[in-house]
Amino acid sequence: MACASGEGFQSHLSRQRISGRTGNEAGAASFLHTETVSCCSFYQGIEKLSESRKEPWLGTPARTIEILQKYGFRFQKKYGQNFLIDPHVLEKIIRAAGIGRDDCVIEIGPGIGTLTQYLAYASREVYAVEIDRNLIPILEDTLSDWDNVTVINQDILTLDLNRFVEEHNGGRPVKVVANLPYYITTPILMELLEKKVPLESVTVMVQKEVAERMQASPGTKDYGALSLAVQYYSRPEILANVPPNCFMPRPNVGSAVIRLTGRLAEERVQVQDEGLMFRLIRASFAQRRKTLFNGLRNSRELDYSREQIESAMEKCGLSENIRGEALDLKQFADLADALSGKEDAADYVDFSSGVKHTPVT
Ligand code: SAM
Repeated sequence: MACASGEGFQSHLSRQRISGRTGNEAGAASFLHTETVSCCSFYQGIEKLSESRKEPWLGTPARTIEILQKYGFRFQKKYGQNFLIDPHVLEKIIRAAGIGRDDCVIEIGPGIGTLTQYLAYASREVYAVEIDRNLIPILEDTLSDWDNVTVINQDILTLDLNRFVEEHNGGRPVKVVANLPYYITTPILMELLEKKVPLESVTVMVQKEVAERMQASPGTKDYGALSLAVQYYSRPEILANVPPNCFMPRPNVGSAVIRLTGRLAEERVQVQDEGLMFRLIRASFAQRRKTLFNGLRNSRELDYSREQIESAMEKCGLSENIRGEALDLKQFADLADALSGKEDAADYVDFSSGVKHTPVT
């Protein structure tokens, strides 16, 4: 395992990778070229794991407790630390992500390295980004048998992922795999999707309720701005429900593994101004019980007259009493196109974050 600290990590990281690998670079390279055990054998059962790459050994309650005690580790609630302790779930995540020998994987929040071991076993290369510096010495220990892992001690939300993928995978799409810290699930996913990071897929453990919202259809109780945002950029699929007893400590909520597959051009709706469409979506769901018209009219993010909204809605065949939750993605895109160019301000302020945006052109 190679390690890099957050500050100035780009150059630091490269140096560390090289120096971390010099001891067994030749061995690692020849392994990559001569390995013939397909990842299918991994999927068929733990006993058939390859001899040539070390098998994952963390992931049981006993091993987890052993490591935690060895380092006197204390869980930090603020970081959403709930570590996986069930090998079946870990294998399921690897299977769901379809991890293979050619894959470059980014893991968000490796914890003590449990899922990381499985990823390192199955993939070509893993970059694991962990915020909690107390976990770094533990990761150095638990990942010492894998030379294809680099740990980066940094907040994932401060990492320029586009630049990272460019520098470490030549700009080719990566797979993101994680048991996400639940307190920042949405910001992490939106960062990945909105910034258009080159992604083959995103396979993550999230709170069950959030997974259901991502996959929800119009008119259902779970449908909202998150469903539309995720479905605009990707196709979400819930692949497994995971009960609290698969984690240490147990979370208070159920969890689910969800996979987002990349942009499927033929399924994506076309819209002239993506930024405007998302402002319409946010305005429509800000007060769910209001009609679409009132939601748009009262939004601080939008600046349209009554007549402009009425005329755009009429053009799209939307009745004046319709609620935002009844519209699908295509209808929001059509509404955005009907309103495009009619807004007063070129820039707007996102009042939820205080960030000033310029509409995407
Ligand atoms: N992957 C491990 C596992 O499955 O056992 C741990 C998952 S735990 C739910 C979430 C991990 O994300 C923790 O290790 C936590 O410290 C880390 N984390 C929390 N916030 C983070 C952030 N902003 N950037 C990077 N890592 C973060």
